Amino acid sequence: MSILSSRVTGISESQTIAMARRSRELKAQGVDVINLSLGEPDFATPEIIKEAAKSAIDNNFSYYTHVSGYLELREAVARKFKRDNNLDFTADQIVVSTGAKQSIANAVLSLIDPGDEVIVPVPYWVSYLDIIKLAQGKAVLVDGAMENDFKVTGAQIRKAITPRTKLIIYSSPCNPTGSVYSRAELQDLAAAIAGHPSVYVISDEIYEFINFEGKTESIGSIPSVKDRVITINGVSKAFAMTGWRVGFMGAPADIAKACDKIQGQITSATCSIAQKAAEKAVSIDPSITDAMRNSFRKRRDLVLQLTSNIPGLKTNVPQGAFYLFPEVSYYFGKSKGGSGKEANGLTIKNGTDLCAYLLDEAKVALVPGAAFGNDRHIRISYATSEELLTKAFKRIGNALALLK
Ligand code: PMP
Ligand code: GLU
Repeated sequence: MSILSSRVTGISESQTIAMARRSRELKAQGVDVINLSLGEPDFATPEIIKEAAKSAIDNNFSYYTHVSGYLELREAVARKFKRDNNLDFTADQIVVSTGAKQSIANAVLSLIDPGDEVIVPVPYWVSYLDIIKLAQGKAVLVDGAMENDFKVTGAQIRKAITPRTKLIIYSSPCNPTGSVYSRAELQDLAAAIAGHPSVYVISDEIYEFINFEGKTESIGSIPSVKDRVITINGVSKAFAMTGWRVGFMGAPADIAKACDKIQGQITSATCSIAQKAAEKAVSIDPSITDAMRNSFRKRRDLVLQLTSNIPGLKTNVPQGAFYLFPEVSYYFGKSKGGSGKEANGLTIKNGTDLCAYLLDEAKVALVPGAAFGNDRHIRISYATSEELLTKAFKRIGNALALLK
């Protein structure tokens, strides 16, 4: 019998992190792996942000801060929410955490009692389900159809709501599909929950600035639901600051206070130096993100073109983030060389098998769609150079061509 709690044994390791670890291990053994698993920008943090951190060190900004982040940072985040998202928060409604991941965990733990239901559109970001499990909540999955760009509709949400529904959580731009909800689509979702005052929304907007088609809309700016929306964002993606570990939320005051209480018992606050860097990031003109976004758009166009050259990869056109989520069922039932022989010991049954095969045969690390709720798909992160992407797709194409 395990000594570990059922709380821990009941959750799985994050598949994005597991694949990245596997690829690092293979690299350390001298295997030439191309890692398209982890979603993190390959750019450097902008100089002006690094300077803010250096000066925080020189000025001995090296003590515990307010648990939710020091006041000027929370004020700067509140101004950012107003400037970019038309959201009205005061500083006491802002909680800064060690990454958006912790912000999401704080919010879910603040709201969910055992058995409470959380509506999760599929595909979802990998960590939502396990965070809900940690809180002993029950995820209610709602399928976003590929024909609707993987987005769910108000009608679907209406059907999924029960008296136990407490939350809906989604990301837009979406990880893993790159889909972005328009204002009209968000209004449709808002209309579905407007009549259910105990249903809250976690709107994960971490890819806000990696949107190729326009401005990212926030459901929190829709009057009928605005008092029930927790808006999550951070600096990891837009400013290439994944390792700095700063994310934040704007939330109703009682929820922000609850998150402050949880965080006060678990982490105290995120790193004071990283907070100074984050204050700079949210305060500078967001046009600083333009160059990175343009590179991501070029890469998206490149991977769409490379994908179209490979049979059996069906995909939507992602409008944001930096992932492709192709459907790969064309390869199910096939094996390397065909004729009933197993492909490297494997007949492909699902996206998980295909990812294992591609890691083995093509030395390209991807993430199975199962991590995001649909194992007919695989996720490809294109947050890497065009040169590496071209090389990776050549390898993927060659390996897939062996499956008969
Ligand atoms: N939400 C989504 C949809 C993500 O893809 C990520 C990626 N890490 C996060 C939240 C967490 O970001 P952070 O690095 O700020 O914890
Ligand atoms: N969000 C990124 C991804 O989906 C980073 C990994 C993680 O935070 O789980 O790949």
